[in-house]
Amino acid sequence: MLDMQFKSTKGNTEPVSFLTAMRNGLAKDGGLYVPDFIPKLSGQFWNTLSEYSLQEIGYRMARPFLEEELPEKGLRNIIDEALNFDIPLVPLSENRYILELFHGPTLAFKDVGARFMARIFANESKKNKQELVILVATSGDTGGAVAHGFADVSGVHVCLLYPGGKVSALQEKQMTTAGGNVSALEVKGTFDDCQYMVKKAFTDAELSRQMILSSANSINIARLLPQSFYYVYALSRLPQKQRERAVFSVPSGNFGNLTAGLMAMKMGMPATLFIAATNSNDVVPVYLEKGIFQPRTSQSTISNAMDVGNPSNFARIKHLLSDSHAAIKDHVLGYSATDAQTRKCIREVYEKTGYILDPHSAIGYLAAQQFAENADEPPVQIILGTAHPAKFREVVEQEIGDDIELPAALARCMKKEKQSHSIDADYEALKRFLQDHYVESSPSI
Ligand SMILES: *Cc1c(COP(=O)(O)O)cnc(C)c1O
Repeated sequence: MLDMQFKSTKGNTEPVSFLTAMRNGLAKDGGLYVPDFIPKLSGQFWNTLSEYSLQEIGYRMARPFLEEELPEKGLRNIIDEALNFDIPLVPLSENRYILELFHGPTLAFKDVGARFMARIFANESKKNKQELVILVATSGDTGGAVAHGFADVSGVHVCLLYPGGKVSALQEKQMTTAGGNVSALEVKGTFDDCQYMVKKAFTDAELSRQMILSSANSINIARLLPQSFYYVYALSRLPQKQRERAVFSVPSGNFGNLTAGLMAMKMGMPATLFIAATNSNDVVPVYLEKGIFQPRTSQSTISNAMDVGNPSNFARIKHLLSDSHAAIKDHVLGYSATDAQTRKCIREVYEKTGYILDPHSAIGYLAAQQFAENADEPPVQIILGTAHPAKFREVVEQEIGDDIELPAALARCMKKEKQSHSIDADYEALKRFLQDHYVESSPSI
């Protein structure tokens, strides 16, 4: 039998198994892990999709990647526990749907990846009796999902870095009130600074002798894999003849979500078109148009979970699509929207249909709408609804002119007191924090 192997996008390391790739987070050469090859699922599976639950689809998609490392029962349990909430495909108008990915505990799609990954880590930590530190840079939503996903998982410490003053009040509360094994670092800088500091920690040889560091960012393969499940699940809810005409509009920042869609496509998913919908941090749409990938400093917008100036997963997208601009353009279309366009969209969709979009999903909506207007034959548009509007209610309420009720779990969280450590946007400051908090005795060097 062929072992499923993962290699680095930079190609300078030995291939490793899924669980090793998960533990390492980033490959030792600084590249991202990608599957060596992606097995296609059987025609039988694709032809009988509508018979399967979300969990069954997830199991069948994950099995080829994990079957040598996790027994069937273990994998099924992890998927059942991780995906214990609905992901409804809600019709908005003819040929247009929104896939509501935000019914998990922190009301954003990142719960899917974070919950799946936390359960695999918990499983591992129990098996190996080894403590580890999960280090995460977040632009907002990952932090809450990871804090929640890992809260009270024994043997696992979580250290979150977020850009101070650049996340919503709610996002900050979700990250800073989990307590216990979760520490939140408020960095005096941008998300890109946070991401840079985390990446540097992973390549620090001294630190790696002192503690086992892992990542839970969208760069981690264990976050990515479960995100491919819901693309297929969304299609399974459509009539079979519509599936090939479906286009996914993906509100994007670090491009993990869209990469997961491409992985589903490689597994044989019949829909093969994706829209990279961004805010004014439009590095990827510009690349699609001009063929030049030019990272920039990120700008703050009202869709802050997408404020990324140097999207990490672009390396994976290139790898999955033969490193070819033409091949990427065959499957990925670019679209970007300003804050003003986003606000107008939230207002108009609410006035016309009563549906309340959050700012991220609104960008997906605008991209889908634009694509449909320019298409000869109307495509079936599936917009990934990445966050619940209550999570961004400061903005949304201004546009719809109405109050949004906070779901109960969020209301409770807002009443708790923020607990964070403020640090400079400087790698040495992070290193000191890690050594002070996670090295038990004095380091043996
Ligand atoms: C993280 C996030 C995104 C962007 O997802 P990527 O995988 O980083 O492209 C979009 N919307 C919301 C609400 C998010 O939290």
